[in-house]
Amino acid sequence: AIPLVVAINTSLAAQNGMLVRDRIAMEEARNLDAIIFDKTGTLTEGEHGVVDMATVDGVDAEDALALAAAVESDSEHMIARAIREAADERGLTPPDASGFEAIKGRGVRATVEGDEVYVGGPNLLTQLDSAVPDHLQRFADEAGQNAQTVVYLVREGELVAAFAMADVIREESFRVVDALHDLGIEVAMLTGDSQDVATAVADELGIDTVFAEVLPEDKDEKVQELQDQGKLVGMVGDGVNDAPALTRADVGIAIGSGTDVAVQSADVILVQNNPLDVVRLVKLSTASYRKMQ
Ligand code: ADP
Ligand code: MG
Repeated sequence: AIPLVVAINTSLAAQNGMLVRDRIAMEEARNLDAIIFDKTGTLTEGEHGVVDMATVDGVDAEDALALAAAVESDSEHMIARAIREAADERGLTPPDASGFEAIKGRGVRATVEGDEVYVGGPNLLTQLDSAVPDHLQRFADEAGQNAQTVVYLVREGELVAAFAMADVIREESFRVVDALHDLGIEVAMLTGDSQDVATAVADELGIDTVFAEVLPEDKDEKVQELQDQGKLVGMVGDGVNDAPALTRADVGIAIGSGTDVAVQSADVILVQNNPLDVVRLVKLSTASYRKMQ
């Protein structure tokens, strides 16, 4: 009888926009103690807009934005798209750039007019060991407290500008956190973004546990950290960066269109890009396997 129940359960899941790649994980979903969500693009819209910028003395804000857009011209990251759009809206033409390189979880680099230029977040500054001028630090602190993501422009080793970008929390995310709490499940958030932004978003949503400024190669360790506390852990993500964490999790859940890598690393794929389907998944698992006993 078990295969039949599993088959019904799987087709029910499919009707709800859930593709089950691992049936055992589907059964385990009802026992999850904690679920970790990727922040950007999962709990938030992931559609950033540049809302403010600051530069060092002698650097024009529009020149800085055009330069950043040039460095970002080859990147598909949501931040890159937002910077290109902001430059475009101001009628700026980015200078020619070459030698593009993506630095995973940190930013991008390119050569522009003979200069080595980087655009990226706090993790990039750490890697480049760049000093942050006082007024840019204040700019970044203020932006962070407003849950704005800050990216930096570094030219020839010198930090020359900072951009504040606003992302919006998805309306569904509030209900997801409440519903999971009602089910007795701990809610955690994992992000490469700054501690400030992560804390602001987590506070607003009522999230229990926050892992911020996590490099892509370290994301799976955070899953392990909760597992080491004896918890059965689910992980929800969409990016290439999330793949090892999805694999490590007891129930790996890819959401939205997702990247191929994320999809291949997940146990369950939520086809509609709706975080509320995570709650439906847990409830469906509970209902299906209760029936079986
Ligand atoms: P998340 O963990 O929030 O999904 P990522 O791992 O993709 O984000 O990136 C982590 C951080 O690295 C971003 O918050 C940003 O600071 C920086 N970053 C990554 N790619 C880019 C890029 N193309 N341009 C600027 N910053 C980037
Ligand atoms: Mg992401």
